[in-house]
Amino acid sequence: MKSFNLKNIEEWYADNSESELSGLRILFDDIEPLINDLSSDFNVSILGTSENKIPIHKISIGKGQKRILIWSQMHGNESTGTKAVFDLFKFFNASGKSLSIKKQILETCTLIFIPLLNPDGAIAYTRENAMNVDLNRDAVSLEAIESRLLRGVLDEFNPHFCFNLHDQRTIFNVEGTENPATISFLAPSIDAERTLTEGRKETMSVIAAMNSMLQQVIPNHVGRYTDEFYPTATGDNFQKLGHNTILIEAGHFPDDYNREKTRKYNFLALLEGVNYISIENNFSNYAPYFEIPNNDSRFLDIIYENVLVDYEGLEEITSVGVLFKYKVLLNNTLESFESVQKIGKLENYLAHSRINLNKKQYFI
Ligand SMILES: [Zn+2]
Repeated sequence: MKSFNLKNIEEWYADNSESELSGLRILFDDIEPLINDLSSDFNVSILGTSENKIPIHKISIGKGQKRILIWSQMHGNESTGTKAVFDLFKFFNASGKSLSIKKQILETCTLIFIPLLNPDGAIAYTRENAMNVDLNRDAVSLEAIESRLLRGVLDEFNPHFCFNLHDQRTIFNVEGTENPATISFLAPSIDAERTLTEGRKETMSVIAAMNSMLQQVIPNHVGRYTDEFYPTATGDNFQKLGHNTILIEAGHFPDDYNREKTRKYNFLALLEGVNYISIENNFSNYAPYFEIPNNDSRFLDIIYENVLVDYEGLEEITSVGVLFKYKVLLNNTLESFESVQKIGKLENYLAHSRINLNKKQYFI
């Protein structure tokens, strides 16, 4: 068992990742020309359309026995996985000696991708779809068209492994460190007891391999997402149905609010996950999964220090903690704004940046 040559892959990535996609808001209009440009190695079809009639594509590559299903952006405002998937498409389109694992993957695996499962939510920059359904809580009732499309592919393709790509908020740090959780993983539970089934162990073994690779690139920036059982969540249900499902949560990296660095780590994780599945046959090395530290949630985006706060005439010097929120403006651009979360000493919080207001008041 071996991982890929990280140096070669990083060199390739620096010059060849998908430069047409950037920023936080990735729409169908952004990916459509890239899908149309895919080489004939890919098999592209329209799976169906969203509630607002935007096409959702199914893209497959490879001819191997191991079946892998990968979807991104089931939450419309979580686009890092989509960017990483298109980087992976570039990788599968590339040639060169250093990319020998590409051949290995495509000969042993058949991969199906559903990029941007929730295009309506991407436009509105919401987690939910156009009918206000959270697709990641819709795995049982299948209320949303998009959930039914995904489930249709799951039932027909019968994947051995699934990758469910999400973004997590900037609040998460790696427990026991002051590092943001840049990538977090989860092997979902299939019941409230969080039973360690054979399938979950297999899922964990793939995550252990991805973590081991990522620790070389972003040491101590990898976390483990809570495995609390969510009865209606996609991963929990797919895992329960016998399809080992790996959840990747792309998170914050210092000075990377657009998640272009995180996107690379997401790409590397995905590539290593697929590579590991392509070369491994017994998936029994699950124990290192439990060595990945948990996610903790101690971050605020900005802590303003030395702030004058006026409590109805009683003045106090304290701290104000804010998180960035986002909205789509009438001119169809995404704008961030600050939302006050905490006022007080905030000694137990971490901040992505700190600003000293020198005893002035905080105004938005
Ligand atoms: Zn999500």
